[in-house]
Amino acid sequence: MKFSRYVIIGSLALMACGSGEQQPAATQEAKAPAACVDNDSTFKYEVESFADIRILRYRIPCWDRLTLKQQELVYYLTQAGLAGRDIMWDQNYKHNLEIRSILEKIYTTYSGDKTVADWVAFETYLKQIWMSNGIHHHYSNLKHTPKFSKAYFTTLLSATTTECSPEIMEVIFNPKVDARKVEKVAAKGLVENSAVNMYGDDVTTKEAQEYYASLAKPGDRAPLSYGINAKLVKKDGKLTEEVYKVGGLYGTALEKVVYWLEKAEKVAENDQQAAALRKLIKFYQTGDLRTWDDFNIQWAGATEGDIDYIHGFVEVYNDPLGNRGSYEAIVQINDFEASDRMKVMMQNAQYFEDNSPIMPQHKKKEVKGITYRVVNVAGEAGDASPSTPIGVNLPNAQWIRTTHGSKSVSLGNIEDAYNNAPGGGMLEEFANDAEEIERAKKYGNIAGKLHTAMHEVIGHASGQLEEGVAPSSQTLKEFASTIEEGRADLVALYYVMDPKLVELGLMENLEVGKAEYDGYLRNGMLVQLRRLKLGEEIEEAHMRNRAWVSNWIYEKGLAENVIVKEVRDGKTFIDIKDYDKMRVLVGELLKEVQRITSSGDYAAAKALADGYGKKVDAKIHKEVLDRSDKLNIPAYGGFMNPVLVPEMDAAGKITKINVTYQDKFADQMLMYSKEYGFLAPKK
Ligand code: ZN
Repeated sequence: MKFSRYVIIGSLALMACGSGEQQPAATQEAKAPAACVDNDSTFKYEVESFADIRILRYRIPCWDRLTLKQQELVYYLTQAGLAGRDIMWDQNYKHNLEIRSILEKIYTTYSGDKTVADWVAFETYLKQIWMSNGIHHHYSNLKHTPKFSKAYFTTLLSATTTECSPEIMEVIFNPKVDARKVEKVAAKGLVENSAVNMYGDDVTTKEAQEYYASLAKPGDRAPLSYGINAKLVKKDGKLTEEVYKVGGLYGTALEKVVYWLEKAEKVAENDQQAAALRKLIKFYQTGDLRTWDDFNIQWAGATEGDIDYIHGFVEVYNDPLGNRGSYEAIVQINDFEASDRMKVMMQNAQYFEDNSPIMPQHKKKEVKGITYRVVNVAGEAGDASPSTPIGVNLPNAQWIRTTHGSKSVSLGNIEDAYNNAPGGGMLEEFANDAEEIERAKKYGNIAGKLHTAMHEVIGHASGQLEEGVAPSSQTLKEFASTIEEGRADLVALYYVMDPKLVELGLMENLEVGKAEYDGYLRNGMLVQLRRLKLGEEIEEAHMRNRAWVSNWIYEKGLAENVIVKEVRDGKTFIDIKDYDKMRVLVGELLKEVQRITSSGDYAAAKALADGYGKKVDAKIHKEVLDRSDKLNIPAYGGFMNPVLVPEMDAAGKITKINVTYQDKFADQMLMYSKEYGFLAPKK
């Protein structure tokens, strides 16, 4: 399962919630170690934008903390990922690679006028296709529309002596041909109406469904992931699978993948990691589904080490029937800074519990912090690139998750890139004054990270039920999840204004806490409404808890002038007049929400979540939509990867690996096609 930014903008909380393992808390206090010193304030996060896309870059922090052997491992794993890049293109649509080759040949060899509108439109079209690994939009699934004429395209073809068949011309210029990548409406024919290249042209939905139903064994407690690595086709009228494996479908690319994985296996950090890699190699060599499960079990158990990866035919969203996995690779490095922060919190978990404003009977006598993993991405490919998730929870097979566990990660440096990229004016538009803007720019990033860490490590871990009270899923029912998320948020909000965090070395000063208070209310009362259509109510648990927490605090603070709403030129702003008093209100609400949870008070939960977190003021909502629409911020982000460049000695042994960054999206895409174009036709 992956978590995209559109599902949970602004918080990493969701994917880690409830999935952490318990760790004993040490009694002595610890200070946060010094941060990695490679923070480069000049790094350019946003590269360019086109159509509805903006292209960002992410950094790999603390690269020098890795040993050379670990750096080599990262390098081989990223190479293994990129080696399979073309697989995703072909899985997405049967003509994608052909079209890419044609367009790239024109792009790199055309010497005519590149200032005319037609050329700009051609370039945008190619960039859109690069972004989505094919001709269909990565999110909407609809075919991209060229904004240049067929006649102009024909002149480009002849000027560059590029061949293009009439069939491909139809695909590009006739909007009706293969218009949608994945059909989700059953009545229209899931397989028949999907352009995705996972079924032969003559295979019907009914046939495919019957085929997989016939493979399932009733009562099987360890069912194989049937179809995860194969295209279903008809040969001589009979259904058969073309398996993705060395010597099979996509064999040329998978051979290269295996070549790099074998190198990675030799520099693995520990035996379990090496064993998992051997299983993955065997899976690509044989296509055997039991081996895929064995790999996932080994992988889920390999939790030691600083390096991890996702590699394989993983997510099934691109298959209208949900069987076939899309090729993807993500290489991950432990986020050392986040780990250090969490360690400090874990070691002080008891302090946070003892000093919490909740009632004494609701406090845990012995509280244990919860661990969750934050990683930094070192390279992505296939389904995970250029459009990336911000969190992943795998493996997908339910029986493996239950029996052998799963791993849940947030991609920290991806989130950093989103936070550090120019916000397109959102902050300037919605912040109350210059002071708030400056504070957000200076401390917003660390405030957000501390909030998330406290939410996860001490928030969910805090508090206890009264004796004889059932878990909140039974007592608070449909409100259990929003109340729990709000409770964890309130713990974080309460302590982000505690001088103790400064004392522990987790933050510089209380300005961090103020930035978090500003941002929380700005988002909870205004900004997050832009994700709803006019007339909609707030449903999603996290959005909802941010609304009821913010609105409750605002309402209670009105009388004492703690927080005020100001309207200037028809625009609403939130102004916090007294941060210390706001903290007192945060404490009061935390105490009440803990009481609701500990005693299972359904009526009070409903009053909070419905009364403060559901309804949207139509006038404010419209205002927020108008204000954000005007900024015209591209809806989707794509990412360029850093380029890892090894230095070798005379004997060809790697002595150092440098992290470099490319400046142009086109440069990276063309480099990938050239170096990893193992399945694309040469033009
Ligand atoms: Zn949570």
